[in-house]
Amino acid sequence: MNKYIEKVLNGVKEKNINETEYLQAVEEVLISIEPVIAKHPEYEKIALLERMIEPERMITFRVPYVTDKGQTLVHRGYRVQFSSLIGPYKGGLRFHTSVNQSIIKFLGFEQIFKNALTGLPIGGGKGGSDFDPKGKSDDEIMRFCQSFMTELQRHIGQDIDVPAGDIGVGEREIGYLFGQYKRIKDVYEGGVLTGKGLSYGGSLVRKEATGFGLIYFMREMLANNNFSLEGKNVTISGAGNVAIYACQKAQEYGANVIAMSDSNGCIYDKNGIDIKVVKQIKEIERGRISEYLKVYPHAEYIECKGKDSPIWEIKTDIALPCATQNELTLNSAKKLVENGVFAVGEGANMPCVKEATEYFLDKNILVAPAKAANAGGVAISAVEMSQNSMRYYLSFEDVDKKLNDIMVNIFTSCKYAANEYGLGKNYVAGANIAAFTKLADAMTAQGIV
Ligand code: NDP
Repeated sequence: MNKYIEKVLNGVKEKNINETEYLQAVEEVLISIEPVIAKHPEYEKIALLERMIEPERMITFRVPYVTDKGQTLVHRGYRVQFSSLIGPYKGGLRFHTSVNQSIIKFLGFEQIFKNALTGLPIGGGKGGSDFDPKGKSDDEIMRFCQSFMTELQRHIGQDIDVPAGDIGVGEREIGYLFGQYKRIKDVYEGGVLTGKGLSYGGSLVRKEATGFGLIYFMREMLANNNFSLEGKNVTISGAGNVAIYACQKAQEYGANVIAMSDSNGCIYDKNGIDIKVVKQIKEIERGRISEYLKVYPHAEYIECKGKDSPIWEIKTDIALPCATQNELTLNSAKKLVENGVFAVGEGANMPCVKEATEYFLDKNILVAPAKAANAGGVAISAVEMSQNSMRYYLSFEDVDKKLNDIMVNIFTSCKYAANEYGLGKNYVAGANIAAFTKLADAMTAQGIV
């Protein structure tokens, strides 16, 4: 391994000893950019890597709220303002019991690279809380969001830091957060949050963007390797925002989506998932995916038991992990390959454990890496910010076309970067190299800050 990278990796491990997800994300990037570092020995003197992996700022705060039964509960809020190199900090908020500093830092770190790949002027940030909106009433969610924003508002602004949604934070939560921000600041600052409702400054296609974008990226990657989505069996983990719109777009391209999941289990419908039913259950009723069988009793429900999700046991051509980090283990990767998978597209952030990605690449499986393949959401968030500044809205067709063009460009950047360094079809390294090159240029130009 390159000596400079080795030194940086040892340092980051020592300083962040318990932050496993963050260390995993840093290691994956640093190892894959080794050929670039070898070409640029001058980076060591200016501590370029050390500065890139260290957040500009990490904020934590107390979030108390009162439940419907009158009990006061206290959660921890986070915001990492990781990098403002190429634009205001930008990245979602996650509400989930698993949220901790390591998860927020890994997401923030990945976000810098993803945002650089979009070609748009957005830096990297991420935030959230160890609060789980599942099973809470609308009033409880509102009170929690208001309390969260009462602290967060000190640190954000449309030219400073622009949060959006992520796991557990959808249009409902963004609405409550925006209302509280506006009330405290006494200003209509449309671009301070993205993923807003259409009635008060949201953009058409933002809801669909991550899932649609993933499929646009997959379409490009497959076409470049003489494949297409038409007639292929596809399995998609998750049944949230990313999974639902990935399913819808894949079906529009003629794919047969046979399975989806949530954290309790997966549904397998060999006739093809009826996405309208999934939307009704998950988006409207906020129910469980198992309820699909009430409408389609012929489908199968397989409960999640161990670490390996049962969805990856199902024979498929294309696998799209769209739920959460490290959901696809090495065992699952082996099973997928044994069953004939030929392409994997990461809709979630870092859904494959490192060994699973390495296994796929070793077996010549096409891998669409998260930083590139799920960048459509943040790209259209940036388009939402532009519309808020212009005080003018684009049509669905216009935004969808922009999304498509951005995803084609991102794929092309990954492909060229992989080619330039002789990495063949390793788009995982291609994405890291393409993003890193842009960030390293900006960092060098801006001096030691
Ligand atoms: P949602 O909250 O809308 O949906 C998440 C889905 O994943 C749910 O079906 C949930 O099941 C499932 N899930 C969550 N945690 C786990 C777990 N530990 N094990 C198994 N299943 C789980 O989130 P999104 O669809 O917005 O986000 C999904 C992924 O995509 C995340 O990694 C996120 O960071 C990433 N992403 C999202 C973007 C966006 O625009 N929304 C943009 C780019 C990336 P259950 O209902 O049981 O909790």
